[in-house]
Amino acid sequence: MQSGLLRLGFTGVGRDFPVMAPESPLFFTVTLLFSDQFASAPMTRAHAPGRVEVIGNHTDYNGGTVVGAALDRGVEVALRLTSDGRVRLVSNAKPADGVVETSISTYAEDEWPDWCAYPLGVIDEARLRGFLPAGAGLDIAIHSDLPIGTGLSSSAALELAVAGALFEALPDTNASISRSLLIEIAHRAENRFVGMPCGLLDQTVVGRARAGHLVVLDASTNQSHPIRLPDGLGFALFRSHISHALVDSPYEVRRDECRKALMGLERFIPGIRHLARLHPADLDAYASVLETRPSLRARHVVHEQRRVGAFLSALHQGDAEAAGACMTASHESSRAFFDNSIPELDALVQFSNQQGAVLGARLSGGGWGGSVVALVTDNFDTKQADAICDAYEELFEVRPHWWRTSASAGLVHELLTA
Ligand code: ADP
Ligand code: MG
Repeated sequence: MQSGLLRLGFTGVGRDFPVMAPESPLFFTVTLLFSDQFASAPMTRAHAPGRVEVIGNHTDYNGGTVVGAALDRGVEVALRLTSDGRVRLVSNAKPADGVVETSISTYAEDEWPDWCAYPLGVIDEARLRGFLPAGAGLDIAIHSDLPIGTGLSSSAALELAVAGALFEALPDTNASISRSLLIEIAHRAENRFVGMPCGLLDQTVVGRARAGHLVVLDASTNQSHPIRLPDGLGFALFRSHISHALVDSPYEVRRDECRKALMGLERFIPGIRHLARLHPADLDAYASVLETRPSLRARHVVHEQRRVGAFLSALHQGDAEAAGACMTASHESSRAFFDNSIPELDALVQFSNQQGAVLGARLSGGGWGGSVVALVTDNFDTKQADAICDAYEELFEVRPHWWRTSASAGLVHELLTA
């Protein structure tokens, strides 16, 4: 550990001021954590949800469309702007680290636990853009009820909650806090400071979601818009016991195969810039020039883009069954053509689809582990979820975690005290 970094234990110091009235359990707990660790009240708070990829599998880096939904779980941040030039961070998810302390002038050289890169990355972006007043310091408490590292974007939720609470606290920034700026800062923090070259889906959904709506992102322009999820529909999430981190994810290999497919087809169809935008008839006409794997990957991507379109029109027309069928077809294509499923995810999809209130299900995110998302009606209940978990447990001897979520609102931030 280098100088400049201090770890103050996780034990509370005395509190001699009132704790704010609880508006939500997360807000209440983060306020307690903040006041216990920093012996003062927070100035601002923010809440950012996790997100699930509803449909649009590996379409993002192929210039296609992805549809996501914000979850009813997320990351709550309480923050105070100080004038001592120090940065103090504490998270309920990392109790062993206690309060991590560094300073605005040395954080780039200091050592800190890996998770601090996400809030520090946001602070770094704000600093580079001249938003931090001279001598400013920050006390930040984080409380989350979102599973971490399971493809539900706890990282983007953390970045956006920190960004929202930070910009709310900065003097004279009220007029300039736009959603676009916060999303850009969070995305840059993850790409540049954390070093994760992710696309814009995570931050866009977390930042822009509206309750009862899905977020549709066109990855060729990075433009997004909301689409209403018809009443009576929601999602059930089932987490396989295979985590992305435990498998040697062939993500880069798939990207390369998609690149090869595009390059191979460009010779015959001049001007195509994005694999996802290819017409299926053109793919049929020229697929034989491609090697087997690039050809199969292209088939998945080109048809997935069409399925996204079909899914959105089905929702528009209120045909929830057709929308669910698109999700299941997406999974089938992942399994057969993109080779990014595994037996655990196939089983969760199969068992989910045996339940009457499930309209469709698919692997969500990159694949090779992680979660399955099912589109469900209001009739989906614990009994049906238990039947899915029982069948999975019988096969794999591990019980999956599950929860039901509505399509929730995105980032909120507010000033608590002047
Ligand atoms: P995902 O975004 O799918 O959850 P990532 O690997 O992109 O997975 O991000 C997970 C990382 O984000 C964690 O390893 C941790 O460093 C950080 N993180 C997320 N939530 C929290 C939290 N509540 N407290 C501290 N760190 C967090
Ligand atoms: Mg992430």
